[in-house]
Amino acid sequence: MQIDAQDFARALRVAEGRTAAHEFTRLCQGLPTPQTAEISWQVAGGHDAPTGRMWLDIQAQGQVGLVCQRCLETMPVMLRVDNTVGLAPDQASLDALDTLESSGEGPDIEYVLADQRLDLLSLVEDELILVLPYAPRHDVCPGVSGQAGAAGAARQDKPSPFAVLEQLRKH
Ligand SMILES: [Zn+2]
Repeated sequence: MQIDAQDFARALRVAEGRTAAHEFTRLCQGLPTPQTAEISWQVAGGHDAPTGRMWLDIQAQGQVGLVCQRCLETMPVMLRVDNTVGLAPDQASLDALDTLESSGEGPDIEYVLADQRLDLLSLVEDELILVLPYAPRHDVCPGVSGQAGAAGAARQDKPSPFAVLEQLRKH
């Protein structure tokens, strides 16, 4: 889905949709399959006439399955994107902004080139990749399949067998 980024921003247009997670092939690279959930997304153009600044507000949310780094089971993780990217009118301005950024004086937000054929889904995908957790872990791993899981469960939430016996004796 391609847009003319400058037109889109100036006209304050909004595009939204729902896309199957597995269609974001770069996002799903290295993730367990199948990725069955849908990701809902919205991109809204913004434009400040006095300064000529243009931007895109990007929102997305949806669930992906990631491998828990502790028990290696697949776990559902909700990805949430809420970000704004500035639009640089041409490559020269983008380079100038990049130079500023690497010297630590640049704007806080990230800029992309205001392409005449900007791929919206690719933009959304970039943002989803940025919020992908690097080492996802269950809060509490289910089951006792792994050694670490068994040790953790015994420590934390299983009542000791003696406590259970105590309970039985009382009744
Ligand atoms: Zn786990």
